[in-house]
Amino acid sequence: MEEKRIEGLWDCAYCGRKAIKARFRACTSCGKPRGIENVFYLPEDLDTAALTQEEKARTTNAPDWLCAYCGSYNRSDVSCCVNCGGDKTESKIDYGILHKLTGKLFGRKD
Ligand SMILES: [Zn+2]
Ligand SMILES: [Zn+2]
Repeated sequence: MEEKRIEGLWDCAYCGRKAIKARFRACTSCGKPRGIENVFYLPEDLDTAALTQEEKARTTNAPDWLCAYCGSYNRSDVSCCVNCGGDKTESKIDYGILHKLTGKLFGRKD
């Protein structure tokens, strides 16, 4: 079975905007960067939310990682924090942008 990739969503704690796509690292409404307090969740309608082939080609399987120094999220393919230059190896892996679905849902808040 082909792997389905779902893009996570997050809510902005500052302006209250809901369901911002994981690809955006800053709020699309107020511009506040996503931080450690922002928890990813999956959309209700998983079929609609699944990435297209084209989108899948542009994204990676590996989760984003969270900088231990400044709390910024970074793509899995960068080794230093884009915000502060902190080392990836010092940082813990976070579930980040894409969740692999294996019949189970990851990253739900409830
Ligand atoms: Zn906002
Ligand atoms: Zn950093």
